[in-house]
Amino acid sequence: MRLQDVIGQERHTHAFVQAYREGRLPHAQLLLAPEGAGGLPMAMAMAQYLQCEQPGEDVCGQCPSCVKASKMVHPDIHYTYPVIKPDGQKDPPISSDWIQAFRQAYQQQPYLNTHDWLQSFGGEKKTANITARECQTIIHQLNLKSYEGRAKVQVIWRPEFLGNAGNILLKLIEEPPPNTYLILVAEEEERILGTILSRCQIVRMSSLSDTTIIGGLKQQVPDLTDEAATRIAYQSDGNFNAALKAADQVDDTYARVMSEWLRIGFKMDLEALLPWIDQVTGWVREEQKQFFQYTERYFRECLRLSVQPTYRLRVNEEQWKGAQYLAQHVHWNSMEQIVQLLERQHYYVTRNANMKIQLLHATMELMALLQNQQPVGQPQVSI
Ligand SMILES: [Zn+2]
Repeated sequence: MRLQDVIGQERHTHAFVQAYREGRLPHAQLLLAPEGAGGLPMAMAMAQYLQCEQPGEDVCGQCPSCVKASKMVHPDIHYTYPVIKPDGQKDPPISSDWIQAFRQAYQQQPYLNTHDWLQSFGGEKKTANITARECQTIIHQLNLKSYEGRAKVQVIWRPEFLGNAGNILLKLIEEPPPNTYLILVAEEEERILGTILSRCQIVRMSSLSDTTIIGGLKQQVPDLTDEAATRIAYQSDGNFNAALKAADQVDDTYARVMSEWLRIGFKMDLEALLPWIDQVTGWVREEQKQFFQYTERYFRECLRLSVQPTYRLRVNEEQWKGAQYLAQHVHWNSMEQIVQLLERQHYYVTRNANMKIQLLHATMELMALLQNQQPVGQPQVSI
């Protein structure tokens, strides 16, 4: 994670670099960040910066330390986070029991919250905590010599889950071994032991602005329209995690409605057609536009798959199965015509056409094109 990947927190990333350069970086910091404001990504970027062999305004991103840090396998960066007891284990759990799951969950979504984390391995129904045994492990690890001769960094995500076990860490936080940095990341100040708070320098990070969230969404979900990004930013209240989930959901609804449309098309199910048309005409124009953009993009990808069978679509499992089915069963030529049909629908929406009639026409055309089966052998086209 680079410092510049932590969106909307430039004030804090600059202050961090400045303090590092001037040799006045505190050895124990507590990032107090509302959910979705980027507390954890900030800690990860700071940890990488402290290990980078050529740190400048940001991490270099290239050196072996940066590579290891970004893969979360740097031997001198330790991670602590709430966990549950693995099945069949006698001892109280420690974070390293779940390190693989943690790497995977963080790398998939650096702005994840604690619930997302626990849910990623089915642990959300049990009580998670950071145990006394984990605290002892932290003390032990940080008192060893650093593996690579640079700093030792301990990230503690959600010290709220320490409970009274946190008292074990007080001496360490007050006086860490030389060249050791503790970076705690919390959301709820009132749930942290006062004795821990008083021993850390507190960095208060604010919720993200709408502009930051819009920028972040446009970067991570490039297909999202400006209007949708603005609406989601407004609703997500400075929480980038919530914004990304909302953006995903937009796609989910469109995926479901598209599958329904294809089912109607394949089965020529006229009975289901009218309720389907009612549903889509009930949307506002912006949603209709996005739906056709989504469906068009999907068909373009399926077309590519039908001429290049090794191509892998960036979609969920269900949509992937659907794409394989389409690529095998619909003639590529029809697929091209479906793409054109969808482009036209997009145009009609922007032109305020009568959508009921338009959708009826479009579905009839779709039905005819879907019946044109894929012949044996590969098509002679290149796209
Ligand atoms: Zn580096």
